[in-house]
Amino acid sequence: MVQNEIDSVKHSADVVVIGGGVIGLTIARSLAQRGAADICLIERASIGREASFAAAGMLAPQAEANSQDDFFRLASRSRDLYAEFAASLHEETGIDVELDTTGTLYLALTYHDLVDIEKRYEWQAAAGLAVEKLTQSQAQQLEPAINSSVLGALRFPLDVQVENRRLLSALTNSVAQLGVSVMTGTNVESLNIEKDRIKGVQTSRGFISCPVVVVAAGTWTSYLKFAPPLQKPPLVIEPVRGQMISFDARPQVTHHVIYSPRGYIVPRRDGRLLAGSTSEHAGFAKQVTAGGISTILQNAQEIAPSISALPIVDTWAGLRPRAPDNLPVLGPCDEISGLFYATGHYRNGILLAPVTGELIAEAIVAGVTSPLLGPFSPSRFDLVRA
Ligand SMILES: Cc1cc2nc3c(=O)[nH]c(=O)nc-3n(C[C@H](O)[C@H](O)[C@H](O)COP(=O)(O)OP(=O)(O)OC[C@H]3O[C@@H](n4cnc5c(N)ncnc54)[C@H](O)[C@@H]3O)c2cc1C
Repeated sequence: MVQNEIDSVKHSADVVVIGGGVIGLTIARSLAQRGAADICLIERASIGREASFAAAGMLAPQAEANSQDDFFRLASRSRDLYAEFAASLHEETGIDVELDTTGTLYLALTYHDLVDIEKRYEWQAAAGLAVEKLTQSQAQQLEPAINSSVLGALRFPLDVQVENRRLLSALTNSVAQLGVSVMTGTNVESLNIEKDRIKGVQTSRGFISCPVVVVAAGTWTSYLKFAPPLQKPPLVIEPVRGQMISFDARPQVTHHVIYSPRGYIVPRRDGRLLAGSTSEHAGFAKQVTAGGISTILQNAQEIAPSISALPIVDTWAGLRPRAPDNLPVLGPCDEISGLFYATGHYRNGILLAPVTGELIAEAIVAGVTSPLLGPFSPSRFDLVRA
């Protein structure tokens, strides 16, 4: 139980944040740091046990980017906030979130892969981004365990990784210290609206009156009802299942985060090596499947064949929250005053947490919506009121 978890039902708050994943926690923290008072974070089950717990913690906007678009700018900004984010959390809570700055490698293992990484190298180098092109022997020298049939690689020195479960612990401690009220085991059932304004939320433990609500409910966003009801749901966020494997890799097999176009491996400081992942439309089923594990094993061994000898210590699956256009949904809802969305982070919620926290809190406290949020506005979807 976190320090500020409350058992009694709150009847009012200045801001209610729905969802205790990395996004809800980071927003609650940023709001408190900006002086917002009486923030209540409501979590249906336990804090930080859904997608944010399942993630691999890669902070890699460059590794898979094919252009310098709005999403790339947002993601790069967030990655660049991480050093300060991690340091301040360490200072506040004593928890080291293990921000590892070794960097990320992206391997070409087929001629098709090689053509793809050449293109990526060209646009990123031309844009002045930090990217290095490695020959086969340079890549092998850097990471001797990689597949000897590697044809070339890119190294992204600024694409890094964080231990996302430690991050969740640090954020949980931080919001408690900052005085955020945290209600776990409490389901938000509906958002109550009067004359196009938020009036409060109906929860499984009673009604909480509040003028501002932030929806950070991840893949369950579409289940939130409106009272009175909308003609159709404002947002369709669907779950995309990702499975993961953790190996005991002491001593570590590799030092960088290493991608291929088919999979990735992530070395952790404690000797675990994570391998992922799958992208499956399996509804809300969080099972690990034989087929999923077999695919991940195959792709991980393609990156570093010696993985085949490692003991598997854990497997799990999580649900990535995906909007219809694969982009996050961020900012105020134009149709309902006091309603803000921070959802649909899909494959990049850990990466996008600092920028989401900063910009959503700024929009609420200062009433200023950053131009960075413009392309991700909820108003790009059709919201029809009752
Ligand atoms: C296998 C896998 C690997 C990934 N790897 C990476 C990676 O390397 N880097 C990266 O940046 N991202 C990665 N992601 C994506 C990232 O995990 C997600 O984008 C991110 O965790 C989303 O955070 P969230 O807080 O929105 O959602 P969640 O962590 O799912 O939190 C949402 C919370 O809201 C709560 N909730 C929902 N409805 C209600 C309600 N009505 N009332 C109260 N509470 C409610 C839920 O119980 C949940 O705790 C990965 C995801 C998966 C599954």
